[in-house]
This record gives sequence, structure tokens and C-alpha cells, in this order.
Amino acid sequence: MKNPKIALISLGCTKNLVDSEKILGRLAQGGASFCQEPEAADVLIINTCGFIKEAKEESVETILQMVRLKEARLKKLIVTGCLAERYQEELTRDIPEIDHVVGLENFNLVAEFSGLKHVVSEANLKGGKNGCQEDFRVRLTPRHYSYLKVSEGCNNPCSYCSIPSIRGPFKSRSMEEVLGEARELVSSGTKEINLIAQDSTLYGIDLYGRKCLHELLQRLSEIDDLRWIRLLYTHPAHFYPALINEIASNEKVVKYLDLPTQHINDKILARMGRGVNRGDIEGLIKRLREEVSGLFLRSTVIVGFPGEGEEEFQELLDFLEETAFERLGAFTYSKEEGTAAAGLRGHVSEKIKKKRLGEVMSLQQGLAFRENARRVGKEIEVLVEEVGATLAVAQNKRAGARPAPTLRRGYGRSYGDAPEVDGNVKLEGSNLMTGEFRRALVTTWEGYNLVARCLD
Ligand code: SF4
Repeated sequence: MKNPKIALISLGCTKNLVDSEKILGRLAQGGASFCQEPEAADVLIINTCGFIKEAKEESVETILQMVRLKEARLKKLIVTGCLAERYQEELTRDIPEIDHVVGLENFNLVAEFSGLKHVVSEANLKGGKNGCQEDFRVRLTPRHYSYLKVSEGCNNPCSYCSIPSIRGPFKSRSMEEVLGEARELVSSGTKEINLIAQDSTLYGIDLYGRKCLHELLQRLSEIDDLRWIRLLYTHPAHFYPALINEIASNEKVVKYLDLPTQHINDKILARMGRGVNRGDIEGLIKRLREEVSGLFLRSTVIVGFPGEGEEEFQELLDFLEETAFERLGAFTYSKEEGTAAAGLRGHVSEKIKKKRLGEVMSLQQGLAFRENARRVGKEIEVLVEEVGATLAVAQNKRAGARPAPTLRRGYGRSYGDAPEVDGNVKLEGSNLMTGEFRRALVTTWEGYNLVARCLD
């Protein structure tokens, strides 16, 4: 195949998205030409997710849809990512139209299988496996924000989770490597870095013998032109005083934390293997709220875990109402083969799981709307994400008057909104520019979003 056109579909979480960027980087180094539409591609790569039932279904459906393209232009279909790692044999056997199933260990094979002439060899790249090496990234997010992985894998014993078996043990990247990548991202226009990992709070424990995320935050904040550092995927069992101090006192670390609690009932937490009980979680939240002023807390919970009866579920609902997380994601428990929870007694029916999910989400909607109403009249800083239509402005026709500035509409995010998962701010102002920070006054709210007018 001469100069194949390559397209990539990235499914799943932000960690997978970073892997996709690194795969594209390898391909770009090999001289690939890319296209956006799978229909126009000679080679299609699907980077899959294999975390829970819905994610696996989405991955398989996407593969099956794309298989149909092989009847037309598409010559090669390559499947990689977590699903490929977890079900390599089954995919190869059951979907013979897939040309190559590539696990997580070797992104370079994707480039080789894509038919590129100049494949960058592993020896020419610094670092090790699993995409931890410092190779070039082709960015799939807008320039002004990026995700940055601080570690790979996970050692935690959460009984419902298949990640440790898919992604292997926890492995921190060296501080120099993370800082080097952060500097590159900032020099190419990134203003906001979102730190990701399976468990970001454990950063450094394997490499330096101690938890040192606070030091990483400190050093990242020394990078000029980096304005926001956001901490995602923390674990309540692994916070420590120096980290809380750093979050509270470092101006560049946004006062937003992604703190998955998963449940609150002690019996369920123990069965989940979370290493914390209700008292620990409540104590941590109290401390964070006291010490970090203006904190936005995002959490996730799982409903319908084995053993969750009406009483345990009601305890969770009451906790969510009392705690009023500013942001919340909720999932139904997914029985994953090979995990400890799959063998537990007391599995909950799908019907009840769905009903409980609905109850959690409707409670959270009320809390989120209340939070938005509370912000009306407040001044906020907004990172402009997209600039839209020009607004019709009544022209000032008085002789000698300056022309009215062009008002535009766009949208952006405050520090309380993480990219892709939270709401946004509809913005009105003159000279809006993507990737800029603007001060704005919140005038009203619509659903999960705020509406604001620029003040400068
Ligand atoms: S912390 Fe728990 S839920 Fe998260 S990746 Fe590790 S084992 Fe899975």
C-alpha cells in the first residue's frame, strides 16, 4: 500500500485518549497521512475500551460497524487498546475481518501494521512500554488544554475493577519525564493541564519510595504560561497532609478535585475493597472543604453493587444529599469476569440497578441546579473554548461616536468545570478568542450550564 490514508477512532477514557495521541504521534513520525473520516481511510485504527459492560459493547459495535467499510475502500482494520488487550483471542477468532489485534504493550506494531515505510523503532524512543515513553503526541484535544499521564496501571484491590489485570501494576513516570512533556504541551499552547492516572494520589510511591504528587504540582506550577493544573482520578485512601496543603496554597492548582467515593455504606465499601470507611471519607471531605476555599468536588458512585439492599442504597442517597457534591457521575455495577466482586453473593437485578441510577441522577440534578442558581451574580474567570456567532448590536449613530465593539457569543469553562465531563459557561463579550482567559459576570443559568457576560 503506497502512502496509506490513516484514520483513528478513540473510545473510552482520557487515558485512552492520550494513548491515541501517542499512537498518532508514532504514525506521524513514520510519515503517515491522516484523514478524519473512516470512510476515506485505507487503514483504520480503533483504540478500544474494555472497562465495563457498556464500554465493551460500544467498542464491539464500533468494530462491527467499521467492518462493513472493508467492502468498500478500507484495506486494513487494526484494533488496539484495553478491549484488544483483554480479549485478544476472542476478537481474532470471532471477527476475522480484523487484520491485527494489538495489545497495550506495543504501539509501534500499530505503525508497522499500518504499512508505513519508516517506522520509528523502539530503540529510537526513550523510556519503556505502555505509552510511557516520551514520544511525540498528535493532539486530539484543542490546543489550550491537555491531559497528562503521571502513571500507568494500578495496584489497588478494588474488587469490581478489571483495570489492574488489563493495564498491569502501578508505574509512575519520572518527574523529569512528566515535567518535560508538560513544558512541551505548554510551549504548543496549552494553558490547562489535567493530570490523569488510575490513581493520581499514589504518584511516586513506586519510583521514589514516597507519595510525591505535591512536589510534582509544585514543579509544574513553575512553568510560565501554564495557568491551570487540574487533578483528576484521586483516591480517598491516599490523600496526605502535604498534598492537601499544596492544593490549598498553590494558585495554579485549580480548586477542583475528582474524588471517586463509589459508595458510603461501610459493608459495601469493605466488599468493594476501597480501603476506606464512611468515617474516613466524611473526615476527608470535611478537611478538604475546610482547607481548600472555593473547592468544587466531583465524585462518582456505583449503584447496585452486590449486597446493596434498599437500606444501603438509601444510606448512599442520604449521603449524596447531605454532601451535595458539585459534580457527580453515577454508574450501575457491571459484573466483570475475573474480578473478585463477580463471585460475591447478592447480585442486584438490572431493573433495580437502573431504577437506583435514575434516583441518584435526579437527586443530583436538583443539587446541580441549586449550585448554578447560587453562582448567579458572581464574578468568574472563564477559559474560552469556542467562539461562535456575532451578535447583532445596535449601532451608535451619533456623529463622532466610536463604532460599537463587535459582540460575540461563545462558550468556555470556569475552574469548576473539567473538560468533557462537566457543564460549560455560555459567554457573551467583545473580541472573544479561543484559549484566552476572561473575567465574566454570571447573569443566569440554563440546565447544567451558566450564562455570563464578559467584564473586560
Ligand atoms: S483505583 Fe480501583 S477502580 Fe481505580 S483503576 Fe485502580 S483498582 Fe480500578
